[in-house]
Amino acid sequence: MSVLDTKIEFLKGVGPKRSLLLNQELSIFSFLDLLTFFPFRYIDRTSMLKINQINNFDIDIQVVGLVKSVHTIGVGRKKRLVVKFFDETGQIDLIFFKGISWLLKSIIKDNKYLIFGKPSKYGNSISFVHPEMDLLNNNHKIFHPIYPVYHSTEKLKSVGLNSKGISQLVTTLLQKCKHELQDNLSDFILKKHHFLNRKMSFEEIHFPSSYKKLKNAIRRFKYEELFFLQIALLKQKKIRQQKNKSFVFRTVGEKFNDFYFNYLDFELTNAQKRVVTEIRKDVLTGFQMNRLLQGDVGSGKTVVAILSMLLANDNGFQSCLMAPTEILANQHFNSIKQFSDKLNLNVVLLTGKTSVSEKKIILSELRNQSIDIIVGTHALIQDSVTFSQLGLVIIDEQHKFGVAQRAKLWKNKDIMPHVLVMTATPIPRTLAMTAYGDLDLSIIDEMPPNRKKIITTHKYDKDINKVYNFIYQQLTQSRQVYVVYPLIEESQVLDYKNLLDGYNNMRMIFEKKGFQISMLHGRLSKDQKEIEMTKFLQNKTQLMVSTTVIEVGVNVPNATTMVVQNAEKFGLSQLHQLRGRVGRSSYQSHCILVTSNKLTQDSRQRLKAMVDTNDGFKISEIDLRLRGPGDVLGTRQSGLLNLKLASLVKDSELVEIARKDAVLILANDAALSHIYNRRIFNFFINQYQKLLKWSTVS
Ligand code: ADP
Ligand code: MG
Repeated sequence: MSVLDTKIEFLKGVGPKRSLLLNQELSIFSFLDLLTFFPFRYIDRTSMLKINQINNFDIDIQVVGLVKSVHTIGVGRKKRLVVKFFDETGQIDLIFFKGISWLLKSIIKDNKYLIFGKPSKYGNSISFVHPEMDLLNNNHKIFHPIYPVYHSTEKLKSVGLNSKGISQLVTTLLQKCKHELQDNLSDFILKKHHFLNRKMSFEEIHFPSSYKKLKNAIRRFKYEELFFLQIALLKQKKIRQQKNKSFVFRTVGEKFNDFYFNYLDFELTNAQKRVVTEIRKDVLTGFQMNRLLQGDVGSGKTVVAILSMLLANDNGFQSCLMAPTEILANQHFNSIKQFSDKLNLNVVLLTGKTSVSEKKIILSELRNQSIDIIVGTHALIQDSVTFSQLGLVIIDEQHKFGVAQRAKLWKNKDIMPHVLVMTATPIPRTLAMTAYGDLDLSIIDEMPPNRKKIITTHKYDKDINKVYNFIYQQLTQSRQVYVVYPLIEESQVLDYKNLLDGYNNMRMIFEKKGFQISMLHGRLSKDQKEIEMTKFLQNKTQLMVSTTVIEVGVNVPNATTMVVQNAEKFGLSQLHQLRGRVGRSSYQSHCILVTSNKLTQDSRQRLKAMVDTNDGFKISEIDLRLRGPGDVLGTRQSGLLNLKLASLVKDSELVEIARKDAVLILANDAALSHIYNRRIFNFFINQYQKLLKWSTVS
């Protein structure tokens, strides 16, 4: 146990009462906690004013002068201490309402002080209320020109632990444990990034001697956090990669090649090729692939899935493709069906709708391995579903299935199938690297060529008739249109009314012109939803009025316009997902965001982002800036995002650097057992091993 683990109570100047408050108010329990309780800002105290130079009453300033007199005025609650303070240019009052008896004893007349605080002005006289006062003796120089400011609370202030009180504790602590602050980074890293050593970094971050050194110290501590985090994630990934044995898909065979050369009617993008290569490498290792495939809506993830399944088939294995909804499962099934017969593949669909007799056949065919590929919904993870040779599981739209649910697919198996999870909710690379750092990550960052850009516009409610005109034009050109209303959780009734009004409105305008309208909302049964969606898919209805229940991933290529009503009520990624419903054909597509004219700053930024870019990765970066990573990622691994200094968003460049260093170091010394990595190893074992408990594999 290190001195740094000592309870904070035992630091000189703390004691039981203060320690309890430090625990409760700031979660400071140990010496280390206080040491890493960094200032949240710094005040430049390099400049000093004369009294007659004071003219800004909004900032903290400092003045050197002499105390002329100390006395109290008033009685009871109005009692206050007034210190007359002067320099060669003028005189001011220092006023105190609290701690009067102690101050009366400690402020000494005719002595020289440095005062620091915010001045205020009454008529012609200037005063400071509760300034900080430091006694200056003759050879005194001001020790902290860049003055640290620590967070404190009312309760802490009541026991003397304001910012200054805390900084005094830190001074004591730094003095006490100066021999305990050995470095935790290797010389290689320190040299490479010109970092100060750890002891100096602590001193500089609390009491900077220059801005340059402060900057260095902050950067070092950010790096430290990110580096050890990456080491933890990479180690965890390694453990996972070498834990589960899986099948080797050695051959690229007949089915894969036949499809690739004869049925694929487009050239793969470079990104798709890269991802297929990554997958092929994974399935050669003998260990389970656990890969997350991120790609924007429409980036072409499905073909990657298909090629992977054909690869499995060529090696004698079955695959299973699981989608979160009936409609999506159907869609996948149909697109595979288009070529599977010609390839002589037995592909089946299993959903909640499959009849009992049909299901019985499917289940037995799965077991005798006459089924090559099965596509389906949650129905695939029922207990009755067992495979004879399941080699690959693909999950579309990751967030809808839990880890435990998926594991049901390979229950009671010694050897696990490979797993590919596909998601259309991209998050920036640096964040993905960390949040999913324990998974293998593939990114399709390139759209298929010749895609027409979806034109996005922002319209106000008052212009709704223009929007209706536009819809009408599209309909007369035989295109279809979505109109989406928000789902306001707290008032489903209001929601429904909103939607119903919209629906009736549309009917009034468009039905008499010969167009049919579907309506979709949460109150419909699954079957009713299905019926409406199918009608729209088959162009029996041309307008789809809906709440956000319209499914992620639904593909109606003839629908070219997405109108979002009350668009200000939607999150950025949701808007982007909705927009992804259109732009699926060679026709020019449009997304129209309709809002009221009262918009918050945030809504304005979201709308602007939508109008400015179609790029899902850019959108998610902006989303992150607006909402922070915790909200964007949900609760997943939120512990991991509790970084003290570093921000996965703002410090993305440093995330990359730390990641690269961690990869390099582990590549040369996986166990961190070399002497030159000793410090890293020791610190990691002591401080960071606990991070390894997030071993949830997505
Ligand atoms: P998503 O990634 O959203 O699942 P899809 O896989 O559904 O996207 O692909 C969207 C559309 O793009 C499909 O019609 C698909 O056939 C087409 N597509 C995919 N890859 C390419 C490519 N390399 N070139 C041209 N079209 C492509
Ligand atoms: Mg898809």
